[in-house]
Amino acid sequence: MILNRFYETLTREELEQLQIERLQSTLNRVYRYVAFYRQAFDARSVDLSRVKSLADLARLPFTTREDLRKSYPYEMFAVPLRDIVRIQATSGTTGKPIMVGYTKNDLRNWTECTARLLCSAGVDEHDVVQIAFPYNLFTGGFGFHQGAEKIGASVIPASNANTEAQLMIMRDFKTSVLICAPGFAGRISSTLASAGLHPENLHLRVGLFGAEPWSERQRTELEEGLHLQAFDNYGLTEVIGPGVAGECHERSGLHVNEDHFIVEVIDPRTLQALPPGEEGELVFTTITKEGFPLVRYRTGDLSRLLPEPCACGRTLARIQRISARTDDLIFFAGLKVFPSQIEEILSAAQGTTPQFRIVLDREAGVDTMDVQVEISEALPAFDELKNLEKLRDSLARGIQNGLGLQAKVSLVEPRSLGGEGKIRRVVDRRAEKMTTKEP
Ligand SMILES: [Zn+2]
Repeated sequence: MILNRFYETLTREELEQLQIERLQSTLNRVYRYVAFYRQAFDARSVDLSRVKSLADLARLPFTTREDLRKSYPYEMFAVPLRDIVRIQATSGTTGKPIMVGYTKNDLRNWTECTARLLCSAGVDEHDVVQIAFPYNLFTGGFGFHQGAEKIGASVIPASNANTEAQLMIMRDFKTSVLICAPGFAGRISSTLASAGLHPENLHLRVGLFGAEPWSERQRTELEEGLHLQAFDNYGLTEVIGPGVAGECHERSGLHVNEDHFIVEVIDPRTLQALPPGEEGELVFTTITKEGFPLVRYRTGDLSRLLPEPCACGRTLARIQRISARTDDLIFFAGLKVFPSQIEEILSAAQGTTPQFRIVLDREAGVDTMDVQVEISEALPAFDELKNLEKLRDSLARGIQNGLGLQAKVSLVEPRSLGGEGKIRRVVDRRAEKMTTKEP
C-alpha cells in the first residue's frame, strides 16, 4: 500500500524540481534566521542565488553533531519560540542533549512521514498498534503515535513498561503491530519464551523496529520468536525523528522520504559525494522543516544508495540498511553511548584513565555489555580481592548512575587488553550471534 501516491511515485525529474525549489527556500530561511548558517555560508562565500541544481549542494557546508551541541538549547531554531508547538531532544547522552523544535507544519509533515512507513509495512485502520518506545523527549514514541493515528489504527501508547506488562497488553488487547527498538523486541520475545508461551497465543503480524541498527539474523529471530513480519525503519531526532526512511514490502532497502529530505552519501575522509552504489556516510538536508532545518547534516551512519528501481512502485530512492558507523557510537538498550562517556566515569572513579574495552554481546535475545577494565598495579587495592570487588561494584554503579545503563564490569590483569598498541575500544558480537534457542 502506498499512502501518498502523488509524492511517493514522482518521476526523478519531477522530484528533483520539487527538491531544488524546497532547498532554495530552506537555504534562504536559514541564512536569514539562523546565525550559524549565515556565518557558515558567508565563510565559504556561498552565493545562494547561484544554488540552482542538486549538484550545487556540494558547495554548501556540512552541519555536525558538535555544531548542534554548541547551539544548545535554541540557537539553531529558525522560527521564534511562539511558533514552536513541540520540543523534543536526542536521547541517552550525558550532559546537554540536542534540542529540536517543530512548528505545526513540521508536526503535520512528520506525521505524514511515519504514516507512510506504517502504510508501506501493510498497517491499516484494522490494526491495533502497540508502541513500546518511551514517550518522553525521545522522538520514537510520539513520532509513530501520530502516524498510526493518521492512518486510523487503534494506538496503544504502551511506552517502555517492562516486558511482562507489554506481553499482557499484547495478549489482552490483541495487538497486531509492535513498534519498538529491535533490542527491546528481543527482550519481549525471550520473556515470552521463558513464560512458556507460544507466539501463537499472540495476534502479532507486523513489527516496525528502529532507533538502533539490527541485523538480518535478528530479523529472523524476531520473526520466529514473535510470529510477525519485521520491517526496518530509519530516522534521527536531529533530522526529524523516525520517518526519514523505511522498508516497503520488498524489504530490500529503505525508501527515503525524498520530498522532505535530500539524501547524500559522502566519503567520510574526503567529504566528497559518492556515486550511487558506493558505501559512505549518510548526509541529510531537510527541505520542508521550519522549526529546526538542517543543511547537509552528517549522521555518522554508513550506508549506500541502491540505484535500481523498486518493485513496489515507489520511485523514492532507497538506502541499504545501516551497516556500521563512522565513530564508536554504541546503540545499547535504546540508548546511544560514546565510549568516551564510559571512560570519563572510569577515570573519575579511579583517579587515572584505565585501559578498557567494551564488549557487546547477546544472551537469549538480550543485549549485554561487559566493560573490561585493566586494574592498575599502582592501586592500593590491587592485592586484595575484597577491595577489587568493591572497585568493580562502584564502577558498575557509576555507569548505572551516569548513563542509566546496566553493564557488567570485569577487572582484568594489567596490560592484558593489548598494552602499548591501540586497544579496540568496542567489540560488538551481537550481529553475528544467533540466540541459543530454548530446547
Ligand atoms: Zn519499495
